[in-house]
Amino acid sequence: MPVKVPITDNHMHIDPRARGLEAIKEFKNSGGTHIILVTKPSWSIGIKVKKPDDYLRVFDETVETASKIRELGVGAFPVLGIHPAEISKLTEYMELREATELMQKGLELASRYVEKGLAVGIKSGRPHYPVPEEVWAASNEIMEHAFSLGKDQDCAVQLHTESVGEPELQDIAERARKTGIKMYRVVKHYSPPLVKTCEELGIFPGVISVKGAIEHALEEGTRFMMETDYIDDPDRPGAVLGPKTIPRRTIKLMETYGEEPFWIIHKENPEKVYDIEIEI
Ligand SMILES: [Zn+2]
Repeated sequence: MPVKVPITDNHMHIDPRARGLEAIKEFKNSGGTHIILVTKPSWSIGIKVKKPDDYLRVFDETVETASKIRELGVGAFPVLGIHPAEISKLTEYMELREATELMQKGLELASRYVEKGLAVGIKSGRPHYPVPEEVWAASNEIMEHAFSLGKDQDCAVQLHTESVGEPELQDIAERARKTGIKMYRVVKHYSPPLVKTCEELGIFPGVISVKGAIEHALEEGTRFMMETDYIDDPDRPGAVLGPKTIPRRTIKLMETYGEEPFWIIHKENPEKVYDIEIEI
């Protein structure tokens, strides 16, 4: 310290009701410079979605939080979208068809923020837990709609999915490819360090930076990003990885691997995927 290398967290949530900007200060003080700020699930911020416009409140909050983060001197790029588990929430009080259309319309609204330059990507995916066949089919339909929107806007689509190995990544890539979206815009969030597999398929991994994962990823190359999925949930303070994780791991790993791979991981890769500039 001080570190000259940009340090980017590819997937963080910040909730003004939880630690909020304090978590960003920790990130910055540890050497972090940029984050991709992902929408919190609607229910986690107390919004019960009944019509597409209800998502505007969810998205506006993310955009507003991003501008507060920038005031602290940390680059913040919003990715707006709908958590795939929302389908289970919505179907508690509406039909599956209605829920599917509502989520698709919500994603269309998210893509308009990208169009206006207020966000750099959209977020979709499919449930990470077992669901009935018809819910799985609907979720795939929603995810494919997100890919189409990503193609239209030429923007990134971040995915929250079931835990993946090669076959699951293949299935996701196939669904993306048929929409015509540029494959490097498809970001598998919470990815295992399957850097080569993702490279072959064209999709981009955001490697969840648990102990040992980045060393593993680096054995397969530098075509990946690093993330914590810092959740900033007042009820689950210790869940997932903390905001200091990416800066700390990067600084530690630079002792072994040097700076070079991290210029690619923290700057070149996110610049390409999200069409952004990472400057320090
Ligand atoms: Zn997340």
